[in-house]
Amino acid sequence: MKVAIIGGGLAGLACAHELEKHNIKPVVYERNSYIGDQFSHVSAILEIIGRPIKDHITYMRQEFGIDIKPLNTINNLTHLSPNKKTIIKGNLGYLLNRSKDSTAVAVQILQQLKNTEIRLNELGDYESLSKNYDHVVVATGNSSFADELGCWHIWLDTYVRGATIAGNFDPNTLTAWVNRDFCKRGYAYLTPFSEKKASLILITTDVTEKEIDHYWELFLYTENLKYPIIEEFKLSHRSGSVYPNKLGNIYLAGNAGGAIDPFLGFGQYNSIFTGVMAARSIVNGESYEDLIRPIIKRNLDMLQFRKAYDLVGNKGYDLLFSAIGMPGIKHLLYYTPINAPRLGAAIFKRALKLIGKQ
Ligand SMILES: Cc1cc2nc3c(=O)[nH]c(=O)nc-3n(C[C@H](O)[C@H](O)[C@H](O)COP(=O)(O)OP(=O)(O)OC[C@H]3O[C@@H](n4cnc5c(N)ncnc54)[C@H](O)[C@@H]3O)c2cc1C
Repeated sequence: MKVAIIGGGLAGLACAHELEKHNIKPVVYERNSYIGDQFSHVSAILEIIGRPIKDHITYMRQEFGIDIKPLNTINNLTHLSPNKKTIIKGNLGYLLNRSKDSTAVAVQILQQLKNTEIRLNELGDYESLSKNYDHVVVATGNSSFADELGCWHIWLDTYVRGATIAGNFDPNTLTAWVNRDFCKRGYAYLTPFSEKKASLILITTDVTEKEIDHYWELFLYTENLKYPIIEEFKLSHRSGSVYPNKLGNIYLAGNAGGAIDPFLGFGQYNSIFTGVMAARSIVNGESYEDLIRPIIKRNLDMLQFRKAYDLVGNKGYDLLFSAIGMPGIKHLLYYTPINAPRLGAAIFKRALKLIGKQ
């Protein structure tokens, strides 16, 4: 069976990994001259967001045979709203290297491939490839092909400004800021690579490329962040839903298939999951839509969070983080297996209906 995968990111490589298990030798078309991320940053996987899965790293190893070594565990989550600071401690998730280094997530998956042909510097085009291959998996990390195919529905447009900074950091702490003044309806966070280097990222919604620079400066100024900057980047980021995810012999996986969540912009696990499921659908003939339903459902839950979050202002953020910091609520949210995204989405859906915003 001939399978082409467009995009050598997380979804594309995870798909190739799964196909190899069934003796299929896929061809990955990657437009860049390398595998990995253009802009170095540290991403996160948070346990509270991923429930009912307790530990995504273990889960991916056991269920998909994909072995990813994180940079560190997250043992401290510090939330900062304009006038409140909430600290949560425990086994809260993982920090992962996203770059071109050998420890980067994409490079780690690449190293586990044995039988895949990787064509670097080759732009994949689904129209011509779908005529020459039995199946084509679109895993380009963006919405352009889904848009062309008429199955993309935009949820959120964001701009991301990020930097690698030097300083002294706790490698197990993730710090997150919410503040309407500089995040608008987004958020900012600091995730360390190590004790001496960290990633600082601001994600704002509905801004132009020019405006993001203003909000970035405001963020650094307001929070008095004076770290030396090693490297900087800026990019636009979209989340949306895709339906159908399979058209003829074309499968849309990862961000290209709407995997990224519309609340926090988490998409790593979802991209790996949809890549693996595209492969399973190709191999077993099972419905791709059915296989990826858990991710679609989860993203719809996250959309409820997004709608509720969009209505909250700085006072609301302070109240929210005060509440999260209260012992009973903190315990319930972080130290029991309660499915917080599911429960929160149901509560927000009801609340939004009551105030006529749904
Ligand atoms: C700054 C930033 C921070 C993030 N933080 C987090 C986080 O903390 N937690 C989390 O879970 N998620 C996070 N995400 C989201 C996560 O990185 C993505 O959801 C995930 O990488 C998507 O994987 P993918 O395989 O769909 O796309 P990608 O990993 O983007 O890979 C797509 C690949 O396709 C290639 N490509 C594109 N078009 C073509 C073409 N026509 N032909 C050939 N190749 C092509 C690209 O070069 C790229 O290599 C973050 C994203 C960004 C940008």
